[in-house]
Amino acid sequence: MNKGRLFILSGPSGSGKDTILNEFLKDNKDIKLSMSTVSRPMRKDETQDSKYHHVSKEEFLNLLNKNEFLEYNEYLGNYYGTPKTPVLNAINNGIDMIVEIDVNGAGNIRKSFPDAISVFIVPPSLKTLKERLIGRGTETEEQIEKRLNKAFDEISRANEFDYIICNDDLKKAVNDLNSIIKSNRLKYERQIELLERVQKTC
Ligand code: ADP
Ligand code: 5GP
Repeated sequence: MNKGRLFILSGPSGSGKDTILNEFLKDNKDIKLSMSTVSRPMRKDETQDSKYHHVSKEEFLNLLNKNEFLEYNEYLGNYYGTPKTPVLNAINNGIDMIVEIDVNGAGNIRKSFPDAISVFIVPPSLKTLKERLIGRGTETEEQIEKRLNKAFDEISRANEFDYIICNDDLKKAVNDLNSIIKSNRLKYERQIELLERVQKTC
């Protein structure tokens, strides 16, 4: 059995990672999204386990001490981590996983998964990024400024990624992600079992 592959989706806050993923996952039930554990307080539109598993800082640090994370990062004063067991279980059972994490987390996870396929979502401009963060209405003005200040540095690290998607038009961005994942699944090393099956029919 082929092992599952790990896909990393990253990009500045507000670049559209969640929106693209939600659309993509509607039509792709054969890939699993990793649910992060975070110490960030819930936003008004969030519930426990809707996107994240929310814990206190103490609980997060306790899990970290127990080596429960594949990677983690502190982002604007809160901890965000990828739980290790669900990702390893899925991959060992041949299931593709996707993690949506920040650029530091992406750098860290590549150390344990050098073959991970990484995708960076870039907004069409910083002006649009600001407008989208304001439009989302989930952060205060001060929090938006902090996120925008990080965005410039994050975009300057886009060269660490395999693929870049510009999220100008949502439908196109979702199609781009689809193409990346589909083409990776068609690579020779993922098709060896198929080729063996075909050869057996001779
Ligand atoms: P991220 O997950 O990267 O922080 P979101 O997915 O929350 O970003 O997107 C930020 C905001 O931008 C949301 O309000 C979302 O509806 C909006 N948005 C995302 N993609 C587009 C797009 N292509 N065109 C217009 N608005 C978009
Ligand atoms: P937000 O507060 O907007 O939900 O997320 C802030 C940033 O943390 C985003 O860039 C998001 O991709 C990232 N993030 C979410 N989950 C994880 C995680 O498990 N690990 C890391 N390193 N970053 C994460």
